[in-house]
Amino acid sequence: MLTDGCGRNITYLRVSLTDKCNLRCKYCVPPEGVKMLAHEDILTHEELLRVIRILVSLGVTKVRFTGGEPLVRKGAMDLIRNVSLIEGAPSLCLTTNGVMLEQFLPDLLEARVRDINISLDTLSDAVYETITGKDELSLVLKSVDACYEAGVNLKINAVPLKGINETELPDLAALARDRRIDVRFIELMPIGCAACCEGIPNDEVRRSLDCAYGPSVNAGSSIGPAAYVTYEGFKGRVGFISPMSHAFCSECNRIRLTCDGVLKLCLASPACLDLKILLRTGASDEDIARAVRDALLKKPEGHGLKFTDDRNMIGIGG
Ligand code: SAM
Repeated sequence: MLTDGCGRNITYLRVSLTDKCNLRCKYCVPPEGVKMLAHEDILTHEELLRVIRILVSLGVTKVRFTGGEPLVRKGAMDLIRNVSLIEGAPSLCLTTNGVMLEQFLPDLLEARVRDINISLDTLSDAVYETITGKDELSLVLKSVDACYEAGVNLKINAVPLKGINETELPDLAALARDRRIDVRFIELMPIGCAACCEGIPNDEVRRSLDCAYGPSVNAGSSIGPAAYVTYEGFKGRVGFISPMSHAFCSECNRIRLTCDGVLKLCLASPACLDLKILLRTGASDEDIARAVRDALLKKPEGHGLKFTDDRNMIGIGG
């Protein structure tokens, strides 16, 4: 069991497979772009696999692949397949922008990735291009349909943005009206270039959905930070993840591994452990396990609305 200095059990690892992305979401990537990591700074397939294996042996039960865009990493599928064979069989999840998802879906399902989150902030081609800089909405919608038909445990994650997708939030929520899926609204966090946009507090989002669909009914919570509701006539649920207005740090069970081997202890803070140095200087599995346990004692208790890591989200992994 992995426990941090506040007594929280750490069971959830988010692994960023790459700092590259095929989209340029304005709140995630600055307009001038980001300096890409050098190839040799990125953990190899074997290094990633080793770290994940060690963390699973210590008590991690859930691994989520993210990025950048995880599916643009060359050999991403081989890595995911190998993680699925790790002793201890963690549950495998993927967070993706959905652009390349349809083509990878059969392989992902074969590697028993059953939980897929697709990030989608709009249903309008024009707004999609405003947010992401690309014209790929139709591919994402095809991926949504493909996942649904394949019976994936599917979540759509949307970031509400003042003056950008504000009027579309009920339409996004309506994806859960006809499908048994979760549509979740995530409050914009002031990380890196996100200051270019203004987020919308989830209480406000909920009011606008209540206005559109009548009073919401509590739909219970699942494990994780989202509070769920549903509306009359909805097959699925609407979730609210509110790191800004209702922080959930006391329940945090997660750590993040960036693609350059930094184990981040908290999304908001630079507190971390450089695993790449250990991996490349002959540390044994036991050395790495000990370093992780020691580092976890320094996992911050909460972000207190102070986001002090200067990485952009594309380099952290969402
Ligand atoms: N490319 C993948 C994707 O789009 O899902 C994975 C990486 S992306 C960084 C993961 C998630 O982080 C996306 O849902 C994105 O909307 C969200 N995100 C990025 N910057 C954010 C911010 N400042 N506040 C809240 N969510 C953010």
